[in-house]
Amino acid sequence: LNYRNTSFITSAPDIRHLPQDAGVEIAFAGRSNAGKSSALNRITDQKSLARTSKTPGRTQLINMFEVVSGCNLIDLPGYGFAQVPLEMKLKWQKSLGEYLQRRECLQGLVVLMDIRHPMKDLDQQMISWAIESRLPVLVLLTKADKLKSGARKAQVLKIRQMTAEFGGDVQVEAFSSLKGIGVDQVRRKLDEWYAP
Ligand code: GDP
Repeated sequence: LNYRNTSFITSAPDIRHLPQDAGVEIAFAGRSNAGKSSALNRITDQKSLARTSKTPGRTQLINMFEVVSGCNLIDLPGYGFAQVPLEMKLKWQKSLGEYLQRRECLQGLVVLMDIRHPMKDLDQQMISWAIESRLPVLVLLTKADKLKSGARKAQVLKIRQMTAEFGGDVQVEAFSSLKGIGVDQVRRKLDEWYAP
């Protein structure tokens, strides 16, 4: 698919307010500051498809984009803000879990993690939920340009070993929006999920 034609469709305050469960959907998730907006912009070759500077702790919306008719990308709000009250965190986690488990048109989950600080609690939770729902997962270790090639490869191998223990279909790749590392692999994976 040509990801350069991706356009914004709508925002929803929560998962219940997303448009009807139709077409093929791929969701992007990650801790805030993991580099999700930069990755979406890079993959779609657009400067500001997903806004890259957001105020931590603010209520964020779920954004839906269309690659071509019937093929949608979902940008889930970043998780892991220290400032958010526990009650809100738990509520949001519950609805994320429900989304991953119940959204029929969801065909794959991309989880973005800073290559220097991967696999925090909620990252692991997201992967478990996806696997329970038999969803394939692509883990992107972002900001890969921050590590030298040897350390980068070691980190990719380490996370591949960790995720292998979850069972399920999990692929792990290094990614850098800045240097373009891994962009083609992501597009190939999305192509596969959109056209099984
Ligand atoms: P989000 O909160 O997950 O959407 O993260 P952003 O895309 O807004 O990025 C968070 C911070 O990481 C910003 O300061 C970006 O400039 C930086 N960043 C994002 N991607 C990269 C990358 O590939 N390399 C480097 N070095 N920095 C990055």
